[in-house]
Amino acid sequence: HTKAAGRNGYHFFEASMNTNAHNQLELMQDLRLALERREFRLHYQPKFTAADGSMTGAEALIRWHHPKRGMVAPDNFIPVAEKTGLIIPIGEWVLDEACRQMREWHDAGNQQWKIAVNLSALQFNSEHLPAMVQSTLARHRLPPESLILEVTESTAMHDVEASLLTLNILAESGVNISIDDFGTGYSSLLHLKRMPACELKIDRGFINELERGSDDAAIVTAIVALGQSLNLRIVAEGVETEKQKDFLTALGCNDLQGYLMGRPMPPEQFLAAALAVKAVSPGA
Ligand code: C2E
Ligand code: MG
Ligand code: MG
Ligand code: MG
Repeated sequence: HTKAAGRNGYHFFEASMNTNAHNQLELMQDLRLALERREFRLHYQPKFTAADGSMTGAEALIRWHHPKRGMVAPDNFIPVAEKTGLIIPIGEWVLDEACRQMREWHDAGNQQWKIAVNLSALQFNSEHLPAMVQSTLARHRLPPESLILEVTESTAMHDVEASLLTLNILAESGVNISIDDFGTGYSSLLHLKRMPACELKIDRGFINELERGSDDAAIVTAIVALGQSLNLRIVAEGVETEKQKDFLTALGCNDLQGYLMGRPMPPEQFLAAALAVKAVSPGA
């Protein structure tokens, strides 16, 4: 009896593994065609200055409209794209499309807005990255200062000397560097101090738990103090409640991003949403 159950259990496990593997393989094959089939879209999430509520720009976040599966979240395909190398052409498309869109918004009178684009580890480690960034900016006649490249803390700290080479080339060309998901990796303060970054984005996980009186309030306080002493802007992502917003603003967090102020949205909705914010923000 035990043996049979065990065998059944094993078969069941194997079957589900096959489905899963099959699933992953199908996803990978579809991903190869997604670019030429134009299935990707960028959504834009607004970023705001904590002090006065003015919009500083947006973060571009990729969306995949799969013909059969519907919308696939980046966490479900970026790792596959990274593993297969497809993230290189996909990432080039993202940067090009984000810059094209920002050019349009600049032309509409929003020259002060910056566009933030996420880089994966493979992209960040590609020797072609700085030239690709420069030519993309030039193609859209965008000043480098209006681009923010977001690199996660763990990517930036993986091979510090190599990262510093890349970051210095990018920073010297005038592009802004942001360290994303900060607090989840293991930054040495010495290394952080050497990085030519302009901002730290506190990982959403810490903001999430702020109200529950956990250690997160202490961690966020420490990150803000660290940022201030290193002359870095501090951005909080994942702000969902007024309480979180008030706490972060009182701490001296510079910029805020989250569902409370604005969800990621398709470009068609973005300008209207920005105009609505301008209408209500003090001093606008
Ligand atoms: P990320 O760069 O840390 O982006 C923040 C994520 O938090 C986004 O998820 C955003 O939609 C979500 N978010 C923002 N505010 C809130 C909030 O108030 N509450 C909650 N619950 N979530 C919030 P998304 O769009 O699913 O992206 C997930 C991750 O996928 C990103 O994390 C980034 O690492 C990666 N990603 C997205 N777009 C790209 C891309 O174009 N290229 C690369 N390489 N990675 C990307
Ligand atoms: Mg990001
Ligand atoms: Mg993040
Ligand atoms: Mg993230």
